[in-house]
Amino acid sequence: MSLKEKAVLVTGGAGYIGSHTVRQLVEHSASRVVVLDSLERGHGASILDPSVKLFTGDIADSDLVEEIFTAFEIEAVIHFAAYTYVGESVAEPLKYYRNNTAAPLTILEAMQRHGCKQFIFSSTAATYGNPVSMPMTEEHPQQPINPYGASKLMLEQIIRDCETAWGLRAVFLRYFNASGCAPDAAIGEDHDPETHLIPLILMAISGEREHITVFGEDYETPDGTCVRDYIHVLDLANAHLKALDYLGKGGSTVACNLGTGKGVSVREMLTIAESVTGTKVPVIYGERRPGDPGELVADSARAKELLGWEAEYTDVRDIVATAWKWMTGPAKGRYANVKR
Ligand code: UDP
Repeated sequence: MSLKEKAVLVTGGAGYIGSHTVRQLVEHSASRVVVLDSLERGHGASILDPSVKLFTGDIADSDLVEEIFTAFEIEAVIHFAAYTYVGESVAEPLKYYRNNTAAPLTILEAMQRHGCKQFIFSSTAATYGNPVSMPMTEEHPQQPINPYGASKLMLEQIIRDCETAWGLRAVFLRYFNASGCAPDAAIGEDHDPETHLIPLILMAISGEREHITVFGEDYETPDGTCVRDYIHVLDLANAHLKALDYLGKGGSTVACNLGTGKGVSVREMLTIAESVTGTKVPVIYGERRPGDPGELVADSARAKELLGWEAEYTDVRDIVATAWKWMTGPAKGRYANVKR
């Protein structure tokens, strides 16, 4: 019998979705939570609980990864660590294939060596590419249209091969549009540069940016602007805990979409943000952003059936309200402002 402390390893646990998941794990999981994060894009201040053991370093650092697997009995890995900018992935594909596809092999190798066979993977709707049917189920063709989506899809394939070879079991959680922040505004979304719609609208409202540019108003959607499925980060975090339970009970490898199933257009989002904040948004209408499909909405029936998961934040107003609270709260939407 191993005398080592049992733990769940969370790579990228200091990132946006990772930090919200770590917080829920600390609250609900019996195991110790261990985070491996380079802090290149994550924030040490987003890990609030002192019981969380933070290893600062690269997931491709085999000595460090071995140190973690030697110090703890890692029962499962939740893998967030990745680059997530579509535009950057187009400009610098090798950076994405190295970090998102090649680097996790070090984690998988350590798992194989140490007999750890449960893996939860932050996958993405970007693995589907241009939609051919709506809403999108997990059976939708996976033909990514940018290196970001391709880098994640390749890791899905690698994991399936590991399942065949040595019995790894995994849940691929394919996120739609992650949004919102912890409702107590203790942790939140802080990207640099920020490229996401909700924080950008709120920054235009707070005066931090001059305006928001709407990328295209000639799509074949009801109001001409892009429609997306915005899913609250707490709902995403909760899905990881449910996926852990599923694997713990012997569940086999499966992919699950995570969304609300409700589409919201950019124009609708502007109106919602104005009503939540009581302030007009300065808007400019611009060209389409290359690579943006008109509509992306999830069918998450499988996550409900297999994981018992459902989104609780089904009204996007509530999502925007939590993001606004974070932006105007004590941390003012930026970890750089947090004194801890
Ligand atoms: N969007 C926009 N202006 C911006 C940023 C985003 O009109 O400054 C639109 C974008 O075209 C997409 C939606 O908002 O339809 C959500 O974009 P985001 O980058 O937040 O997420 P994505 O869908 O690309 O993952």
